[in-house]
Amino acid sequence: MTVLTHTRPTPPLANLNQLLPIQQDIFNTCMEHADTARDTDTFNRAMTLAAKAIQTDLPPSGCIVKCACSTCYCDAIFDPATPGLHRAEPSGPYNLPRYQCTGCTDDHPTPTED
Ligand SMILES: [Zn+2]
Ligand SMILES: [Zn+2]
Repeated sequence: MTVLTHTRPTPPLANLNQLLPIQQDIFNTCMEHADTARDTDTFNRAMTLAAKAIQTDLPPSGCIVKCACSTCYCDAIFDPATPGLHRAEPSGPYNLPRYQCTGCTDDHPTPTED
């Protein structure tokens, strides 16, 4: 087990475009289901399946998301509970938070309106 230092950005769990098309399909479908889930059970099941599809363990936050960067075509999948992430969009009528990954947060954070 490697200890992460705080000087480097946390690497993503996976990059969507490096996965098999079938994995991408399952992941995307799970994300849609999680996003529109009306109860916690449905949400959790969709998340568990999404993590399985990309062959990773669900982080303690119980949630994984794809980078919501609007500046580049980033395909990083990461834990939205990672410290220091930049919110890409204000929260909408969705379950999933819209965050930029650590790389995008570093390179080109989207301006936020408060
Ligand atoms: Zn990104
Ligand atoms: Zn980006």
